[in-house]
Amino acid sequence: MTEAIELLPRNPRPARRERPPRHLADLDPAERRAAVAELGQPGYRADQLSRHYFARLTDDPAQMTDLPAGVRAELGGALLPSLLTAQRELECDGGTTRKTLWRAFDGAFVESVLMRYPDRVTMCVSSQAGCGMACPFCATGQSGLTRNLSTAEIVTQVFAGARAMAAGVVPGGAGRSGGPGRSGGPGRSGGPGRVSNVVFMGMGEPLANYRSVLDAVRRITEPAPSGLGISQRSVTVSTVGLVPAIRKLAAEGLSVRLAVSLHAPDDELRDELVPVNRRWKIAELLDAAWDYAAATGRRVSIEYAMIRDVNDHAWRADRLASLLAGRLAHVNLIPLNPTPGSKWTASDPSVAAEFLDRIAARGVPVTVRDTRGTQIDGACGQLAASTEPKRPAAGSNLPG
Ligand code: SAH
Repeated sequence: MTEAIELLPRNPRPARRERPPRHLADLDPAERRAAVAELGQPGYRADQLSRHYFARLTDDPAQMTDLPAGVRAELGGALLPSLLTAQRELECDGGTTRKTLWRAFDGAFVESVLMRYPDRVTMCVSSQAGCGMACPFCATGQSGLTRNLSTAEIVTQVFAGARAMAAGVVPGGAGRSGGPGRSGGPGRSGGPGRVSNVVFMGMGEPLANYRSVLDAVRRITEPAPSGLGISQRSVTVSTVGLVPAIRKLAAEGLSVRLAVSLHAPDDELRDELVPVNRRWKIAELLDAAWDYAAATGRRVSIEYAMIRDVNDHAWRADRLASLLAGRLAHVNLIPLNPTPGSKWTASDPSVAAEFLDRIAARGVPVTVRDTRGTQIDGACGQLAASTEPKRPAAGSNLPG
């Protein structure tokens, strides 16, 4: 018997390029009706399902009591497969910043971060497992690209945040007296709320996964029950600068914000910090950015990680200001979050302050990005989806 078993072929390893299962959130309303019809159900079942998922934020078929029990199980099984399983949740900033490590159907890991502020709630989502852009200062860039996420895998991250907000389990918000940064017990919850903003600043290069990201933007922004009903103006797509994709996005007729990760005002340095610059130079990238601003009426956000003695020189501030003066742009200075083993560190605060002043002096709007989530490796560029236990930073309130 044992021998016979050994003669059988080994369990085939799952095909590496298998697609994530199809999910309601992959489909537009017409496709949903067609999918339901394939299962022999009337089209209005698709609308019922959509209302549960996108409006009531329910993905448990058992709770869909307006559907006959047999239909519930069948439609749920076919259109609401579980795509991402929360593997680990970490929180800091008094519970107002929450990072989730997700495991996909094929074992790929991605992360998302929910940040509750007094006036808004931002969900930072991943568009790819890993990233192929290889920026040397970014944690995600070190491991390369595993794969693109599907539309529904992206939407699911926002869905999870929306559900946590609706359940009132996230402290903070306008009603809370302590303000972010102080720890509040469960009784200090800010009460239920909504996700108001979505930023594609988690793992991955969104414009390298164009189709899925665009469909996810549509699903996130279409009014319920077609989508999650978040305003297009509150969605930001951040890119290393894939010029043809920026131009394509500008022609989509959307009003999402574009963020360009510039990090250097000169090609010589940017070739090193953002290797895709070797393909599309700064002048060409900014041309595309200004055309995007003209097409959408939206100010382009210029992201600039402040790296000590690498890109924080006064002359670079002046060069940056010259590139941006008079343009529809806003500069976001991000103190570098050093990745493990990195030779780089954040700029000295006084150097960063002078850098900011020099840009502001030229009339270019500039702010320093708030760096929430540093303690849980959830801040900009720290998402590496390591499953290794992380040592909590002193003073943080991480579980375990
Ligand atoms: N691939 C996209 C989106 C993901 S990164 C992009 O590059 O824009 C989101 C932002 O975090 C980018 O501006 C990125 O350059 C920045 N970032 C990456 N690593 C960082 C780090 N270690 N410290 C500070 N910002 C970082």
